[in-house]
Amino acid sequence: MCEICFVGRRKFSGLALGLAATGLIATGLPALARSRSVRKSLPLIMLDPGHGGNDPGAIAADGLFEKTITLATGHLLYRTLSRTGRYRVEMTRSTDVYVTLEGRVADAVAAKADLFLSLHCDHLPEADLSGASVFTLSSKASDRLAADVATDENSADRFAGPHFAGVSPQVASILASLETRATRIGSATLASDIQRSFTGVVPLLPDPHRSANLAVLRDPSVPSALLEMGCLSNPLDERLLKSASHRQLIADRLTSSIDAYFTHYSGGRGVRMAG
Ligand SMILES: [Zn+2]
Repeated sequence: MCEICFVGRRKFSGLALGLAATGLIATGLPALARSRSVRKSLPLIMLDPGHGGNDPGAIAADGLFEKTITLATGHLLYRTLSRTGRYRVEMTRSTDVYVTLEGRVADAVAAKADLFLSLHCDHLPEADLSGASVFTLSSKASDRLAADVATDENSADRFAGPHFAGVSPQVASILASLETRATRIGSATLASDIQRSFTGVVPLLPDPHRSANLAVLRDPSVPSALLEMGCLSNPLDERLLKSASHRQLIADRLTSSIDAYFTHYSGGRGVRMAG
């Protein structure tokens, strides 16, 4: 995907304006009418629509950008979660702007997020492969394709220019304390809840719970997962991802997943095992 996207990125860089007609362009965030004290007690969900700005992510055969799908779904999920009244919700980006992977992680840490959910679309070498999958952090990839996904997604920071090419001392220290057991368990629980919530409703890859060394999942204090909502390399998945009703279905199932997650864990800062 990386090489395909890199070539396609230059080839299709002028197509973004044409996507307005698909209804995928952001329409703004709803306001939460709730007192500050009540709001502060609610779990904070940090949504991370992948890519953005000069980083289109994967590119479908017809020129549809991954960044457009992730932002549109992010807005839907923001509204769906907010309307439950059970969560505070923030986004690492709410418009078509570029944010470094390091910046996305830093946003979640600074906001003291209780969960971090990164939204992406896959682009696999075999066009007949289709379905969503969910990643959790591991130093060892679950399979060859998962390793490729990590390479592609982590390479997004090449758009930031040489200033951000290295790893900051802050991120280096985060990496050093990577193996925080409670966070790992929380992340795995979230991934399982997403898989369970999608089963029979949203198409899944044959082995939908995957793992890889993904940069946006590396903070040791925030349980996190990266969802590949489908494959832009598959025509059926692309058609589904273009559909507002399918994206709403994904937002609804993710909301159910997050509800299930918080039946296992406290809504406060950090993770507490149930039972
Ligand atoms: Zn991506």
